[in-house]
Amino acid sequence: MNIPLSRRCRAVTPFLAMEIMEQAKALEAAGRDIIYLCLGEPDFPTPEPVTRAAAAAIAGGETTYTHSLGLLELRQEIAAWYGARRGVAIDPGRIIVSSGTSPLLLLLFAALLEEGDEIILPDPSYACYPNFIRFFGGRPVSLRTRPEDGFQPRPREVEACLSPRTRALLVNSPSNPTGSLLAPAWLEQLARLPVPVISDEIYHGLTYEGEERSILEFTSDAFVLGGFSKTFAMTGWRLGFLIAPASCMRALQSLHQNFLICANHFVQRAAIAALREGGPYVATMREAYDQRRQVLVERLQALGLAPAGRPRGAFYVLADARHIDPDSRRLALDILENTGVALTPGIDFGPAAEGYLRFSYANSLEKINEACDRLAGYLRRAESVRRQP
Ligand code: PMP
Repeated sequence: MNIPLSRRCRAVTPFLAMEIMEQAKALEAAGRDIIYLCLGEPDFPTPEPVTRAAAAAIAGGETTYTHSLGLLELRQEIAAWYGARRGVAIDPGRIIVSSGTSPLLLLLFAALLEEGDEIILPDPSYACYPNFIRFFGGRPVSLRTRPEDGFQPRPREVEACLSPRTRALLVNSPSNPTGSLLAPAWLEQLARLPVPVISDEIYHGLTYEGEERSILEFTSDAFVLGGFSKTFAMTGWRLGFLIAPASCMRALQSLHQNFLICANHFVQRAAIAALREGGPYVATMREAYDQRRQVLVERLQALGLAPAGRPRGAFYVLADARHIDPDSRRLALDILENTGVALTPGIDFGPAAEGYLRFSYANSLEKINEACDRLAGYLRRAESVRRQP
């Protein structure tokens, strides 16, 4: 039977990072020794108080539906976390908890977009954003950015992209794929735009240099996405939150009630434990990431693979490899084939990152050093091939 798929579904492009992963897994199954520097996933286990709280919640029967916005106790803890870290007072009634940040991106664009409406987003940015926007009939408007700005958007240039159809600007700091931070002065200017800012703050808590700032310090007319996946090493638990202007909450809640009902009850209990008791664990992980970041940046510089801007947060470095091969997909596949090092091609994040490679340092120092040794050999071989008459 020929089962036709919707135009909307066919418009969603595959996630290239997953393609590299699948290729790497196939090589590993064939006996190759693979080093994964392509994953946006902590290599640390979930903190013990979190798993303990989840087990207790399951044993205690907390396996039912919860309030569609999430347990009030959890939303109060999230508000307290933002209050303590960023000095902003957030009404828990403006927080909606769901099974990851990703479903909340779906809800948000479902709520904001009419056919042909525009969302401005920096090029490069997280690969899934444009697909979320297109899926709801929106038009992602890519804003070309500069490597020396860590590929963060300049407020003046955002203003030049505004149109009567613009519904929001989407920013991410610390950023995937660059690890760069938005300068506070820029964030402040962006908060004054005549459209709301959607600020993806999922990497908050993982900043090593400078200060991560929240859009909520400058305006309450903004949407903030946050989550437990990265900071608390909880990717598989699936828990995230959205802080929205009060006027949008009823609509978002209706969407959530209908499409997702609520986040897992016992995972919400685990998240409360993460916020209350996870601090020392996060500090230890952050210290390890920072050490790896410094080693990786130094080693990449020595290899002639300069990072785009200074990576200050998250666990990524976007390195310039245009002089080796301007086609990042071909280069990533060739590196994987020849060295067993799995990297993400820059093109996954937008045309401005073509020729770059994204390195994730959510892997041990030992593996990172080994990957850089292998890359040094690869680059030497590539250089000698190029020099041959
Ligand atoms: N935003 C960014 C920038 C991300 O890197 C990711 C995960 N790769 C997400 C959102 C989604 O995270 P989750 O659904 O696990 O909360």
